[in-house]
Amino acid sequence: MTDTARRTSEDVVVEVTAWLDENWDPELTVGEWWERLGTSGWAVPTWPEESFGKGLSREDGNRVARAIADHGALGPPGGLGLLLAGPTIYTHGTDEQKQRYLPDIVTGKKAWCQLFSEPGAGSDLAGLQTRAVKDGDEWVVNGQKVWTSGGQAADLGMLLARTDPDVPKHSGISYFAFEMLQDGVEVRPLREMTGRALFNEVFVTDARVADDACIGGVNNGWAVANTTLAFERAGLGAGGGNAAGGAAVPGTVAGNLTKRAGDFVTRRDRSGAPGMFANAERLLTELAKGNGKLADPTVRQDLAQLHTLNEIARMTNLRQKALKATGADIPGVGNIAKLSMSRILRLSRDLGLRILGPVGTLHAYTPDDREALDKATGNPFAGIVTEMALFSPGPSIYGGTDEIQHNIIGERVLGLPKEPNNDKTTPFRDLPKNG
Ligand SMILES: Cc1cc2nc3c(=O)[nH]c(=O)nc-3n(C[C@H](O)[C@H](O)[C@H](O)COP(=O)(O)OP(=O)(O)OC[C@H]3O[C@@H](n4cnc5c(N)ncnc54)[C@H](O)[C@@H]3O)c2cc1C
Repeated sequence: MTDTARRTSEDVVVEVTAWLDENWDPELTVGEWWERLGTSGWAVPTWPEESFGKGLSREDGNRVARAIADHGALGPPGGLGLLLAGPTIYTHGTDEQKQRYLPDIVTGKKAWCQLFSEPGAGSDLAGLQTRAVKDGDEWVVNGQKVWTSGGQAADLGMLLARTDPDVPKHSGISYFAFEMLQDGVEVRPLREMTGRALFNEVFVTDARVADDACIGGVNNGWAVANTTLAFERAGLGAGGGNAAGGAAVPGTVAGNLTKRAGDFVTRRDRSGAPGMFANAERLLTELAKGNGKLADPTVRQDLAQLHTLNEIARMTNLRQKALKATGADIPGVGNIAKLSMSRILRLSRDLGLRILGPVGTLHAYTPDDREALDKATGNPFAGIVTEMALFSPGPSIYGGTDEIQHNIIGERVLGLPKEPNNDKTTPFRDLPKNG
């Protein structure tokens, strides 16, 4: 890194810290705080300046997130609005759509979910069967989605629907900003083995979406969806540092916007499964030191392996950043980062359960039980390790399974031949359908 680059990064931290000194107040409501943070550009510092961001690099964005956390302030609104919908809209939306949707995303006023997967269309996403049929300047939508994370608290959904079944399957899909809080949308939570209900089934019956809520043009949804998926893989992959965010859920449904912002800062540590992976290496090392398992050479070896994998991921990310600055790229780096994250999580799970021993078999399913368990074990981190273990299959499925990442690397990076199919030539209507 050059001196100039280092000074620039330091300047960023100085600037955001000065802004926090002036603006952070734990007595504000969550909504008031996010209004300040979102309109200042510090909620999404890596987004373009013309789209409510500051145009910073991902590394500087991580510095900003750390500065916010170090200051003891509540992070920006979490969830799929910031992670996926916003970047997709600033990439493909019209200026009017950017003005309509982005301010409510960066200030957490509206929460988003991702209405992609269906019972018969997960890995084969382009086989989706939810239909949108034009009716004047609106579309009428019918179908079923599944695995919809955060659907129960969402104001809007990134909806993929089939708008033309008479063309090959990738060519007849459109991408809509879809109002969730309307008649004809039924959200049913699905409980997972962690005890939480992170995702849902969503049944859509004669619901409506305006034509001007179509992002990126009618029948161009596959390209738009791929942008969302690229941001998803980049956000989920290893090596990117810790995502900023707090425990407060954005949007009108969760009811957090009117609560005191300061109350959410202290609750960050137990905010749910995905966030807990970020510091697994440090957490597991401390646990092993605390209960004597560090004396076990195989535990030490696996901790070293975990550290090595994290470092490789971090350096790959830095290498990609340096290459990008020169206009080059590491082909398939997002897919590799996601695979690497899956491997790190599986190792963290196995190692964590070995370090904990029999205590690792105890799990609490409700907040009250969690408190009781923490008291019984005398170790508030034991429950985190068990929950991490129970959630660990998730990341190698969502955002495209490990097998699909391997296929993409094989076909698009290594140039291996695709499996033969007639997807590109046969109208969707005539293709055999998944169940
Ligand atoms: C925690 C979690 C949160 C999620 N959140 C969302 C969300 O918010 N919104 C959303 O739309 N979706 C979400 N998903 C869904 C996720 O994207 C899908 O589960 C995923 O794409 C796999 O689809 P599927 O479950 O239908 O499995 P399938 O596609 O049926 O796959 C079953 C198995 O077959 C393998 N397989 C399938 N096709 C191939 C192939 N061509 N080559 C090799 N192997 C193959 C898969 O790897 C997998 O092991 C979430 C999933 C999880 C686990």
